Amino acid sequence: MPITANDKLDVHKIRADFPILQRRVHGKPLVYLDTAASAQRPLAVIEAIDGFYRNHNANIHRGVHTLSQEATEDYEQARAKIAGFINAPSKLECVFTRGTTESINLVAHSFVRPSLKAGDEILISWMEHHSNIVPWQLLCEETGAILKVVPMNTRGELELDTLAEMLTERVKLLAVGQISNALGTVNPVSEICTLAKQQGVPVLVDGAQATPHQAVDVQALDCDFYCFSGHKMYGPTGIGVLWARAGHLQAMPPYQGGGEMIRHVSFEKSTFNDAPGKFEAGTPNIAGAVGLGAAVDYLQSLGMGNVARREAELLAYGTQKLSQVDGFRMIGTAAHKAGVLSFVLGDIHANDVGTIVDLHGVAIRTGHHCAMPVVQFFDLPATARASLGIYNTFEEIDILADALEKVLGMF
Ligand code: PLP
Repeated sequence: MPITANDKLDVHKIRADFPILQRRVHGKPLVYLDTAASAQRPLAVIEAIDGFYRNHNANIHRGVHTLSQEATEDYEQARAKIAGFINAPSKLECVFTRGTTESINLVAHSFVRPSLKAGDEILISWMEHHSNIVPWQLLCEETGAILKVVPMNTRGELELDTLAEMLTERVKLLAVGQISNALGTVNPVSEICTLAKQQGVPVLVDGAQATPHQAVDVQALDCDFYCFSGHKMYGPTGIGVLWARAGHLQAMPPYQGGGEMIRHVSFEKSTFNDAPGKFEAGTPNIAGAVGLGAAVDYLQSLGMGNVARREAELLAYGTQKLSQVDGFRMIGTAAHKAGVLSFVLGDIHANDVGTIVDLHGVAIRTGHHCAMPVVQFFDLPATARASLGIYNTFEEIDILADALEKVLGMF
């Protein structure tokens, strides 16, 4: 198998962009197969952050001095890049947050909570990450609203007919992941948004696992809210984005109070900035935004179509290769999948699998992947998960397969 079946991307060149891939772990070359948890950073991102602190660091929006104006320009330029990346109609619809989790909590508190009543429903799916379950659960406990869960089948695909039936006038929001981090399922979110729209139900899409792997177009999806994290898409931790329709942002009350989000403050009353400033209280993660802007530039230089094709080839190869290992069982066999290979190996506990392959330099994740209902659905204590990124090679999948053989040899 050639290293790069997709000749649009040169994986050797890509790997050279990621300094950490030169590392050795337990004396072996690092094989990083944990991108779904957090991707590695290319030099372009590391240098953008370094360059910001070396040359432009200052607080934003409030200063007349040169550094403050440069920092503001850098921060707002990053916002514009992000808007272009997801095809948002305006950069003013992109709110910087700490990540997907905070973006979802912001929508829960400022969009859903003000009008939620006992008996109202919030709809999520069975394969959601905890960050798209717990905020809704907390709201429901507080208000007497009901959390409803769209079921999935044993391949890990949502049951769309049931979803359509569950979309009643009681539903105040449908919150669904575009790609499952635990199973790799790519959900048909465009179709789901169409179904929801017919019933007048707003949709929040958790795009944490989608933005690193495929082109995203929030206008084509026709969703109401789109949430994602910098660190999943080769950018920094502690920075993420909430995209929302301008009308929603205008109507929503602030999430947190503080500096930056106000227009005027007196002891009697304060008035608030327009969005996105209204939702960015306090000094934000300026260097993080700059780094995320650099990550967007990096992904766009590769082309998201090329990224998606490359990862599809790796996934197909990995599925076929790992299936040849004795006792390997894939968890998540949806017809449409992204680069996630969740599995069990006979009755060996996933943590043992992960610990042993680490001794061979292979980094995979084990456990419930912050999606406990998914492992419960498959009646498992845990799974092992190899997840793919743009720097992975076919050879690395072979190394994982060899390491799994060694695990088998120890039991
Ligand atoms: N949603 C999905 C599908 C995820 O995979 C993750 C992280 O693993 C999150 C949400 C939460 O992202 P963050 O921890 O960056 O807020």
